[in-house]
Amino acid sequence: MRILRFLQAGAPCYGVLKPDNLVMPLPGITSFEELRSHLREVTVAGDSPLLSLDTLTLVSPIDPPRNILCVGWNYLKHFDESLGKREGQDVPLPDRPTLFTKLPTTVAGPYDALPLQQSYTDKLDWEVELAVIIGTGGRDISEHDALSHVFGYTVANDISARDLQRAHGAQWFKGKSLDCTCPMGPVLVTADEITNPQDLAIACYLNGEVVQSGHTSRQIFSVARVIAEISAGLTLLPGDVILTGTPEGIGAARTPPVFIRDGDTIECEVQGIGRLRNTFKAQLRDAQPGRHQG
Ligand code: MG
Repeated sequence: MRILRFLQAGAPCYGVLKPDNLVMPLPGITSFEELRSHLREVTVAGDSPLLSLDTLTLVSPIDPPRNILCVGWNYLKHFDESLGKREGQDVPLPDRPTLFTKLPTTVAGPYDALPLQQSYTDKLDWEVELAVIIGTGGRDISEHDALSHVFGYTVANDISARDLQRAHGAQWFKGKSLDCTCPMGPVLVTADEITNPQDLAIACYLNGEVVQSGHTSRQIFSVARVIAEISAGLTLLPGDVILTGTPEGIGAARTPPVFIRDGDTIECEVQGIGRLRNTFKAQLRDAQPGRHQG
């Protein structure tokens, strides 16, 4: 099932995306907990009039209950372009995933215009990622059971201020948590439709040109392993969002480096889920809700 959220009288509402870009609203479902508990019954009983996707302003398919949990350096070539070949020396791969978080205030919609944040950074960069939404919480989840805790998957852009990421010691939090730096969507695909999260093409485009092209089969730590590692001694909650890392091709690692500029459009896509499209504008202070176009 392909679930999305859209604005109705200014408030987010859930719906199910049907064929032909039609959306079946889910009246009475206002929270992720209600969605998780009642999804099957409301979609079976659903008799609301269908809406056209093109008329709706989408927001992120979920508001995470706390900081977004993120994996760094989860694709070998991205590790190499960022750290692994430093000064010609091979740096050994970490034997556990690198973890950090982004604040919930980073969340933005899949088609929002986004602020360039130029008062704070001139090195804003893109990172397309497969995002995992936890359905059943838990602690000490085994790698074997991990995927049964997943409610679904979506696409995220872990937008990163590279100068701030490195200006505050070895802690990435600030550079990863500027407002509106985690657009997500356009839909949440339930886990029953993505039986193998390690078999998805993943790509990012800058003004229509491919800048990242990867595949989740090349993740160093699988989705199941990441869930097992994070949940060791730490309770995962329903609705938690985990960003699973980005492939090679970030702007900072290019020669010369490329960073997001006023008017640039970044698109992030994961196979079987969909594509985000966000244009960056210098004059914006906050995200400006936008619609899918074509
Ligand atoms: Mg990232």
